[in-house]
Amino acid sequence: MNEDSLKSRAVPVLVPMPAERPYSYLVPEHMSVQPGSIVRVPLGPREVAGIVWDTAVDQVDPRKLRPISQVFDCPLIDAKTRRFVDWVASYTLSPPGMVARMLLRAPEAFDPQPWTEALKRTERLPDRMTAARERVLEMAADGLAWTRSGLAHAAGVSSTVVEGLKAQGVFETVMVPPRPVVAEPDPSYGRAELTGDQAAAAETLREQAEGGIFGVTLIDGVTGSGKTEVYFEAVAAAIKRGHQVLILLPEIALTQAFLDRFHDRFGTKPAEWHSDLPPRMREKVWRQVAEGTVRVVAGARSALFLPFNDLGLIVVDEEHDPAYKQEDRVFYNARDMAVVRAHIGGFPVVLASATPSVESRVNAEQGRYARAVLPGRFADAALPHLATIDMRRAPPARGGFLSPVLLAKMRETLERKEQSLLFLNRRGYAPLTLCRVCGHRFGCPVCSSWLVEHRFRGQLVCHHCGHTEKRPEACPECGTLDHLVACGPGVERIAEEVVAHFPDARTIVLSSDMLGGVKRLRLELEAISKGEADIVIGTQLVAKGHNFPNMTLVGVVDADLGLANGDPRAAERTFQLLSQVTGRAGRTGKKSLGLLQTFQPDHPVMRAIVSGDSEAFYDREITEREKAHLPPFGRLAGIIVSAATRPEAESHARGLRKAAPDSRDIHVLGPAEAPLALLNGRHRFRLLVQGEKRSDMQAYIKALLAAGPKIRGSVRVQVDIDPQSF
Ligand code: ADP
Ligand code: ZN
Repeated sequence: MNEDSLKSRAVPVLVPMPAERPYSYLVPEHMSVQPGSIVRVPLGPREVAGIVWDTAVDQVDPRKLRPISQVFDCPLIDAKTRRFVDWVASYTLSPPGMVARMLLRAPEAFDPQPWTEALKRTERLPDRMTAARERVLEMAADGLAWTRSGLAHAAGVSSTVVEGLKAQGVFETVMVPPRPVVAEPDPSYGRAELTGDQAAAAETLREQAEGGIFGVTLIDGVTGSGKTEVYFEAVAAAIKRGHQVLILLPEIALTQAFLDRFHDRFGTKPAEWHSDLPPRMREKVWRQVAEGTVRVVAGARSALFLPFNDLGLIVVDEEHDPAYKQEDRVFYNARDMAVVRAHIGGFPVVLASATPSVESRVNAEQGRYARAVLPGRFADAALPHLATIDMRRAPPARGGFLSPVLLAKMRETLERKEQSLLFLNRRGYAPLTLCRVCGHRFGCPVCSSWLVEHRFRGQLVCHHCGHTEKRPEACPECGTLDHLVACGPGVERIAEEVVAHFPDARTIVLSSDMLGGVKRLRLELEAISKGEADIVIGTQLVAKGHNFPNMTLVGVVDADLGLANGDPRAAERTFQLLSQVTGRAGRTGKKSLGLLQTFQPDHPVMRAIVSGDSEAFYDREITEREKAHLPPFGRLAGIIVSAATRPEAESHARGLRKAAPDSRDIHVLGPAEAPLALLNGRHRFRLLVQGEKRSDMQAYIKALLAAGPKIRGSVRVQVDIDPQSF
């Protein structure tokens, strides 16, 4: 803070609101604050918590300013974290206040947690020794502080015995800080003997972690190759150097198995951070992360905004996972922002995946990231044998969706008392349209995307450019009439079919809309692991990370489904998802099989999965992206306009399009209906901004928004830099 601001005693405070800049507040006479202090300030009729910021204070008459009402007794938000907030705000074009809001999500934690009373042994001896007293003294001989009841319980005596000793001065009262949520991890606790490939990969990571400088390493290894084991080495190295570590995981449901795994390696669990954490626990974790008591956090994407003061490593597991993208308020990709946080902090990042994102692959190929490859499963556990089922040749029985080939394999699996998984990814997209006779799918004439059927309007629509056509009666490819079918079944319909075929099998259905919360999901997953189900039918919830020892058959009901969601990234996503799903089979070395039901067995994705040749697939994908100037070879952003009514949203979106400034390296497409045209009762349109790699998208979009129509009525405009689907 400079001299002037000290004199005027006014400071900028960033409040957790959609504020473009910090507001100025007066510092009362007796109060002392500095950048990073968490303070309580009046805002309109209420009070909120904010952070004292680094920017200059606005030139305002100090008499008009309101005073800070309280400084919390809380560790400072350090300079690196503050820079990170500013960086995320300017990159995502979000108000810095909204980014700060993500950082301040544990309000009770700003006040210190109360210390508790405990007893500690003094030099004094009791006037008279009894057997009970002797036991108490034995327990307390370690010199540690005990709670009264804890000591009595441990010694197996009543608390009056302890009380009596205290009255004689044998114990004194001390105040002890709140208990850490997790114990100190031990970097050498359960270290595994690494294989040659693993050791080489671990060496790459360890060098970086020990060097303590910024760098990104991509661990690229098939499911079960030991990626986790390898990045644990980097975690151990960072802990040894006394740093904090953040491990990001895409799915909370996965965390349980992961926590146990971590415990085996480090002798304690990491602290957890996700939206299902009870509020009291959130506060404790937040506080202890700020204080440095918590050394390792395993968390969902929001853990990236915890107040670490000494972060030395971030691991992003399953780095390709779409769950890292937040598309609400502040639109950000936690994988990318993790790299930013590490860059600002000057420490390494590890990205791990069996199916890296095209972006990370390209970064590795171009030398920006180091790459460590693990080519085979640990202990030579065989990957499942993979094959396609051509649904044109082996169609299901009338009204069904499971081909006879798959049903026969399911029967064999049941007879061997092993488990099957049927996977069907039904996301909330409108159905696609295909010709049952020739397999033709409707694509956009001007984009590399599929047309999505809008049934009520009887139209086929491109979500990329807005192209619309009437749904025809006949297939334009083979001319057959009335054989166009819309979409496949959902998991429940598959379950019905399974029960009809296998009435005695124990069947479990898992999909996000049927969940009785995370608890139920965890129980179900555990039950499946223990072999308490014969056939599991699930959406992508079951695809990730789980280890089901007895699962030897994976059937993908509609392997084509993800290819038809109107998005050029569809091939990459489908490849990733199918690899992951089929990777659930044969984790413990039993012979296993993965079957993909498809209408297009020759599609490059199916060929890549069946042949196991992912290199060829990536090469092709990367070449196509480069040709089309799509990320990572070009830049993209979405501008989403939403409103209570369709005309309002559409007219505002058109107004923005008209206002788009001319530019040589950036152009604007649309507006078209957004991929989710109606969301929470709001109608959404989207403009796509496409630019050359070196273009300044943020500056361009700011100018566009400034030149566009005034925001009126129910209209809201949201910028999505690096959108997931495009
Ligand atoms: P990935 O993260 O690549 O899927 P994991 O790290 O989960 O792979 O390893 C797969 C399985 O193999 C796990 O059960 C793990 O404990 C075991 N494993 C991997 N590497 C080793 C090793 N070097 N020593 C002992 N067990 C290992
Ligand atoms: Zn189009």
